[in-house]
Amino acid sequence: MRFDNILHRQVRVANVFGIPVRIDYRWFVVFALSAWLIAENFYRGFWYLKPTGEVTAWVVGVATTFLLFLSVFGHELSHALVAKMEGIEIVEIVLHPFGGLARLRREPDSPRAEFRIAVAGPASSFLFALVAFAVCSAAFFVFHLELVWAIFAITAAGNLMLAIFNLLPGYPLDGGRVLRAYLWHRGGELDQATRRVSQFGQLIAGVVIVYGVYMGLRHGAYFMALWSVLVGLFLWDAARAVYRAYSGGGARAVADAMTAPFSVEPDTLVSHLVDAVLPLHRQSAFAVARGRRLHGILTLEDLKRLPRERWHATRVSEVMRPVAPEFFVEPHASLQDADALMKRNGAGALGVIDDKGELVGFLQRGQIKRRAVVK
Ligand SMILES: [Zn+2]
Repeated sequence: MRFDNILHRQVRVANVFGIPVRIDYRWFVVFALSAWLIAENFYRGFWYLKPTGEVTAWVVGVATTFLLFLSVFGHELSHALVAKMEGIEIVEIVLHPFGGLARLRREPDSPRAEFRIAVAGPASSFLFALVAFAVCSAAFFVFHLELVWAIFAITAAGNLMLAIFNLLPGYPLDGGRVLRAYLWHRGGELDQATRRVSQFGQLIAGVVIVYGVYMGLRHGAYFMALWSVLVGLFLWDAARAVYRAYSGGGARAVADAMTAPFSVEPDTLVSHLVDAVLPLHRQSAFAVARGRRLHGILTLEDLKRLPRERWHATRVSEVMRPVAPEFFVEPHASLQDADALMKRNGAGALGVIDDKGELVGFLQRGQIKRRAVVK
């Protein structure tokens, strides 16, 4: 079982530069926990500061946590915007308890593009650290605002740690991507380079887990220990999944697993679909298209909600899920990405669209499972 699949509920909170931003609901738990931990520190007297009142402590806790999470979002947004400049569509930005993730529609075309996209994140975190440091210095030396100083000092330190940790050379960390770009550039094959850096990623994850256990047993720092172990497991799992996806044998690109682009016309009556199409095509979802243009995805689940007596008067276009970024992939996208997208879009299926925008294939979750390629 994939560790990050145990719970994967997400809510969509915003659209930034046309990129959907989703928040994993566990994120809210971590937000509250972080705010509480920081508040607790200030309540007891942070560093050399005098203890604050309860309300002040909470305000500081929430404000600091908010800035830290905003920093993570800024980090991911930087990856996304540079990827966009490289001509890659961004499926979404997800904020989860262990950081963030900018999901790209496909792999970069060149080592150079890969390098730029990878480096954008840590570079932005260094920049945020610098800005936060400037604000905290001004608060301290010019305005003598101790709490503002403390909030931005923590933010600066957080960003610095984020930048440094992400530069560790193991996939899927940014440093691993930089290293992959380098190996790729040196003439290595992309697959081979990816396998190599995902092994480093597993190694780093192992070190993080061991460090967590050590902190817990030796120093009784249980929160830190638990956190390290969770982050380590998350990393290990992600690195292993990438390693498997890039290991030889079996299909790994969408093009290798997709079926022929069978589709129904948007104007098809539901009654016709049920009587004439379903008996021949036993699938739980259909691409809805006209002239190879994808209009949407129709699932049998959605059909079930339509009362039988309306089947004769309803067209497929009225019950389908209209086309949106989470309903299609490119043929050379990885099956792993496609599987994640299908798991989340609720339809369990994807249209496969080539660079001319034409429907060239169809993918369903069950299909991939049967071929036992991506889990
Ligand atoms: Zn990053």
